[in-house]
Amino acid sequence: MKQETKFIHAGAEPDPTTGAIMTPIYQTSTFVQESPGVHKGYEYARTQNPTRDALQNALAIVENGRYGLCFASGSAAADAVIKLLNPGDEVIAANDMYGGTYRLFTKIFEKYGLKFHFINMQDANEVSKVINKNTKLIWTETPTNPMMNITDIAAVAAIAKQHNIPLCVDNTFASPYLQNPLDLGADIVLHSATKYIGGHSDSVHGCLIVNDEELKNKLAFIQNSCGAIPGPQDCFLILRGLKTLHVRMKRHCENGEKIAYWLRNNPKVDQVYWAGFEDHPNHEIAKKQMRGFGGMMSFTLKDDSLEAAKKVLSSTKLFSLAESLGGVESLIGHPASMTHASIPREERLKNGLVDSLIRLSVGIEDADDLIEDLEQAIG
Ligand SMILES: *Cc1c(COP(=O)(O)O)cnc(C)c1O
Repeated sequence: MKQETKFIHAGAEPDPTTGAIMTPIYQTSTFVQESPGVHKGYEYARTQNPTRDALQNALAIVENGRYGLCFASGSAAADAVIKLLNPGDEVIAANDMYGGTYRLFTKIFEKYGLKFHFINMQDANEVSKVINKNTKLIWTETPTNPMMNITDIAAVAAIAKQHNIPLCVDNTFASPYLQNPLDLGADIVLHSATKYIGGHSDSVHGCLIVNDEELKNKLAFIQNSCGAIPGPQDCFLILRGLKTLHVRMKRHCENGEKIAYWLRNNPKVDQVYWAGFEDHPNHEIAKKQMRGFGGMMSFTLKDDSLEAAKKVLSSTKLFSLAESLGGVESLIGHPASMTHASIPREERLKNGLVDSLIRLSVGIEDADDLIEDLEQAIG
């Protein structure tokens, strides 16, 4: 089945009792048993729910994986992955990642005796240098948030395999439409489905997709034991979002390209970070592993004062100033004070995340209207 058909039909069976074409919202906490242990496969809704099952199956199919697991948020999904580890274990992670994941690793899990090494994952060889006998997980995000750096997933996966260490890829920015890390050798794919998969800024949700059955069983055990599961209503919304992901992503890519070039040609703009530019340092890898470059980008102004950036951030009318990304509507954000405030300033600066950096999540409105809005804001 072609990818675009999968987004609509993945895991979708008409409801067996009524024929409802859309998976119903099974708003129930428990399921009646005929006699102890005799039931229809559902016992208690933390453990299984039919709406969640439909979504888990659909997500597995669109990521070319065997098993999907849904969580209350992308952060809850990341939390479940780290709970696979034991005190003393070490993790090698990209030094340029979502601020909340960095916070989870350093502020929550370091105190349980885990050690995190943050390195530049644009060079896969850097990974080999940090691997030791305690390394139990490699974690990357590509494209990265907000610097739009690219990790060569196949190259890092090859190193991980050689040392028998699982590789987890946060695929939130690319979405399953643009990139499938399992096909490139990753072991776990993570999404904050809050973003592109949901696509309508109306739900917070996360998921993991894996191929290995033993790994799935361990993660399902954590999912059930720790209980950070999504409710059926949210699963329904994410499942509905998934059905139009391919149509939306195409438009995000088209609008993203137009706006990236427009910014680049604007005399007031200094740097534009977007992996679709031929002179982006990781462009060739991006082209190799992605089917498009998406609608996320960051830029700085020639006037690098915080005031100049703040003026732009508070002057746009179509681009709303807000956290999050990947919705149909365009958003503008200030990573240093918003999404990445939980990363210490000196760490941010090391990765080029200057105080005046502006991030855009380009939506699917008319590109000319979006450009006009940026034009009046940048002046
Ligand atoms: C938003 C985000 C997360 C966290 O997901 P939540 O659903 O907000 O918990 C993780 N990774 C990336 C890249 C994100 O953008």
